[in-house]
Amino acid sequence: MSTWRHIDPRVIEAFLSVPRELFVPDGLREHAYEDDPLPIPDGQTISQPSTVVEMLDALGVLPNHNVLEIGTGSGYNAALLSRLVGGERVTSLEISPLLVRFAKENLRNAGVENVDVVLADGSLGYPEKAPYDRIVGTCAAPMIPEPWVKQLKDRGVILAPVGGVSQRMMRISRHGDEIYTEFLGEYSFVPLRK
Ligand code: SAH
Repeated sequence: MSTWRHIDPRVIEAFLSVPRELFVPDGLREHAYEDDPLPIPDGQTISQPSTVVEMLDALGVLPNHNVLEIGTGSGYNAALLSRLVGGERVTSLEISPLLVRFAKENLRNAGVENVDVVLADGSLGYPEKAPYDRIVGTCAAPMIPEPWVKQLKDRGVILAPVGGVSQRMMRISRHGDEIYTEFLGEYSFVPLRK
């Protein structure tokens, strides 16, 4: 985190309530509380904790929001989302069957019951549960995929890194037919895969 800033206390509460060590591979547990991304199966990474917190703060999830995540990975961010939505269910899409299994096991071990991990190509969104209040991408696409915008509710927000090697965090908000775009800083994420 480059500057000190106010973070939504609900995001802090969610962060403190989910043990990150349950979402990293066995041999890496001693590093779970360092502010670094860590490798997970299939050549992917669990994001750096400060990045996860910054993204959740920028996303502004409220209780009962219908939330879609693209890129389940370890399931860690999904577990935090599951706290922020209260009793609502979170849908999280993952393209790697290996990571679908990894995330489901981690979520079970952490006692998280309101996340549906779905094996799917997230670039298509997930029309089955649309429209969404919040859509968050944790892998980088060249641009926000059009289906995500189509599946967003009025007053809904999309947050995702866009670009190639170095990416910018992009936030899209819908107000009726108007779409507002903001860029929130530079990050480095694994790419969205086809
Ligand atoms: N949110 C994760 C971090 C995931 S890293 C966590 O908390 O651990 C990004 C993930 O996006 C990887 O697991 C990768 O397999 C997945 N991914 C890449 N392309 C995808 C696609 N097209 N659809 C769904 N998931 C994808």
